[in-house]
Amino acid sequence: MSSPLNSDVYLGLRQQMVDSQLRARGISDERVLAAMLRVPRHLFAPERSRDQAYEDHPLPIAEGQTISQPYIVAIMLEALALLPADRVLEIGTGSGYLTALLAELVTQVISIERHPSLADSARRLLAGMGYDQVTVIAGDGSRGFPETAPYDAIIVSAAAPGLPPDLVEQLAEGGRLIIPVGRDDSQQLQLIYIENGKPRTTLRELCRFVPLISDPSRDQ
Ligand code: SAM
Repeated sequence: MSSPLNSDVYLGLRQQMVDSQLRARGISDERVLAAMLRVPRHLFAPERSRDQAYEDHPLPIAEGQTISQPYIVAIMLEALALLPADRVLEIGTGSGYLTALLAELVTQVISIERHPSLADSARRLLAGMGYDQVTVIAGDGSRGFPETAPYDAIIVSAAAPGLPPDLVEQLAEGGRLIIPVGRDDSQQLQLIYIENGKPRTTLRELCRFVPLISDPSRDQ
């Protein structure tokens, strides 16, 4: 008798997601594709929407937040061209799904989430899945996390009104930052690459993310 969490059923759905939503649309980084085939996205979704976990859209989670659409996640990961030895900062842990993908791809992941309840549940889920190289911090990541900078890559899953200079400053030489920039109905991914100490920006896909909310008390 199959349980609702039967891994064969979900593996089949994941394979379809990888083939029809990612590979067919031009995602070609085999490490990214393999990670997306491995990580059980349904375990990061609320129980009521598990049956939609491999569909081509974002999913609502607690605190009015979302798990991003698989295709946009794949675009962002591919753009970062991650290497196994990289140290990565993630801003906006949400459910922890992207955190798990990062942990499949690199040595160390530091992830910040402003909702303590989301940070707690992601931390527990990721630890239970054996992702020991992940640290989840509850707090405001809108200015990055200078304590453990510099990073080889920074990935932001919430839209900033403009490119935050603190994040660019926390990149190592050769470091990459991917971030959605813009307001609710007009956002675009920006990829920043540090070359000879200077940031080089490439404008990428249009997108739609929840806003990156900064804690006003940090400005006082
Ligand atoms: N990548 C996540 C996943 O796989 O579930 C989805 C992230 S969701 C689209 C964006 C997240 O960014 C939300 O959980 C939100 O609370 C968080 N967020 C917004 N502003 C933030 C900030 N200043 N610092 C940290 N997290 C923030």
